[in-house]
Order: sequence, then structure tokens, then C-alpha cells
Amino acid sequence: MTKKSNNHVLAADVGGTNTRMAVVSENGDIVTLLKKSTHCKDGMVEMVKFIVSFAEETIGKSKLSKEEICGMGIGFPGPLNAETGTIYNPPNLNGWDNVPLRVILEKELKVPVAIENDANAAALGEWWKGAGSGTDSLFCITLGTGVGGGIILDGKVWHGASSIAGEIGHTTVIRDGIKCTCGNIGCLEAYACSGGILKRVNNALLKERDNSLQPLTDLKQVDQMVMQGNEIVLNVIKETGVLLGIATANIVNLLNPEMIVLFGGVTNLGEHLVIPLKEEVKRRAFKKATESLRIELSLLGDNSGILGAARNILSKS
Ligand SMILES: [Zn+2]
Repeated sequence: MTKKSNNHVLAADVGGTNTRMAVVSENGDIVTLLKKSTHCKDGMVEMVKFIVSFAEETIGKSKLSKEEICGMGIGFPGPLNAETGTIYNPPNLNGWDNVPLRVILEKELKVPVAIENDANAAALGEWWKGAGSGTDSLFCITLGTGVGGGIILDGKVWHGASSIAGEIGHTTVIRDGIKCTCGNIGCLEAYACSGGILKRVNNALLKERDNSLQPLTDLKQVDQMVMQGNEIVLNVIKETGVLLGIATANIVNLLNPEMIVLFGGVTNLGEHLVIPLKEEVKRRAFKKATESLRIELSLLGDNSGILGAARNILSKS
């Protein structure tokens, strides 16, 4: 990429439901930010068209000329190869199978493109401009419809040999536990993703009360019951925090990061989740590793992925 005195890049956080697209300065200032429902029902070709037209619309709204945009960074649902920008087969997206998205978008948009999986992009964003700003190493746990993670070591994303590094959601926390969508049993994700928490809360309520209570369908309802002090729901959330703490303690002993960042909608459950998590980490991990460890909530929220995607393409200049 040609280095200019005032570089701007396009940055996209693409999800199966919504896509956020921004123009970001080289200092990390978001100049323009738009959000749309992702057009992806009809498969890959429709979705690529959507990304291209949304990118052009975002540049137009920023009032910058196309020449002032020197690249595009994208956070995209994995699994994918960040080096080549090939998307393998994201479980929530129709018709994607080994798609060379980077090559396709570079041809369409005529700028260099860098693609990173969404959890890694969130980790990179938090490291660059968020909770982890100033640290050398962090692990970011994404807690939403799935449970993912991103590893930053010495200011860089660690991908592993097959771009699988960071998949904390699919580490085992219970030997004979619930079957996970990945095929393993007892994975953290099966317990700590939003759907997993809802299922466990509903099962616990059903077990304790034989009335015809409507099953909860939203984590906000769970949060409300927590606020009302419902002991059954509180216990499920506490147990979720403990399971997250077990997985986090393993990460802490393995990587000895400076910081753990907790990111995503599930973190709205707040201290009822985070305190048991922190206690469990302290109980299980090496004292030396926990003494200097900070466990923080995301500072950037929805903008983590956008800023991580921007940083990713800027770092390639
Ligand atoms: Zn799994």
C-alpha cells in the first residue's frame, strides 16, 4: 500500500445478521460508520455484491475520494485463512466453501484487502484502541451466539499452524458434558454461549417449578430475573462464570497474558458472571500469573471488530 500522510482505510465487521462498515483514519478515528442487515440468504455471490456496494456507499458517505482509501480490512466469521484471505465454510453462512474473498474484493474494489476472523479482529481492536491498549499480550474471549477467542502476542494475532488458535469455546470443561455443535462433548461454548445459557436456565427453572412457566427466549429476560434476585437463575449464571473461569485459568497458565478481555452480549450479565469467573481463575491458575493479570470488559463494544479490521490492513502498509 502507498503510504500517505493521511491514510484512511475501509473497515468492515461482517456477521451473519448485521454488517458494520466504516472509514477509519490511521490513528483509529472512525470517520463514518454505517450498519446494515447482511444480505446473505441467497449465498455467496449475493453477499459479495452486498459487501462491495456497502463499501462504495460508505466511502461516498465519508466524503473522501476513493484515492484517499488505501485499503480494506475485514473481520469475517471463520473458519478462514487470514494469510490468503480464503473463507472455508462458516457454519452460519450459506454457500461459502473455500472462497478466495480477498482476491475477489481486491479485484472489485481495487485496493489491498486483509481478512481476519471476527474474534481475532475484536482482540486486535481491543489491543489497539480498547481495554488492552498499551499491553503486549492479551487473550480476548468473545461471548455471544458462540464463544470464541483471539490471541495477541507481542502486538500480533497468533493464528497457529491451521488458523485455529484461540478457539477457547471448543476446549473441554466437562468430561461427559453436553454435545457441542463441533462434535466434541463438554465444550465451553455449549454452556456459555447465549443459547447454551438460555437452555440451562430454562431447564433449571423447569426442574425447580412444576408450573407452566413460558421458557425464556432472550438473555435480557435472564438478566431481569438475575436483577430480581431469582436464586435458580443466579446459580446458573454463577456456574457459567465458574466454567468460564476454568477455561480462562487454563489459558492463563498456558500463555501467561497481561490481560483477559471479555467481549460480547453475554457480558451484559455483569458481575454475577464476572466475579465467579475471576475467583475461579485465582483459585486455579499460578499465583505468579494471576498477580499481574487484569481481567477487563471490552472498552470498544461493537467497534472492536471494526477497529481490529482497520488495524490489520494498516499494519500491512
Ligand atoms: Zn465444541
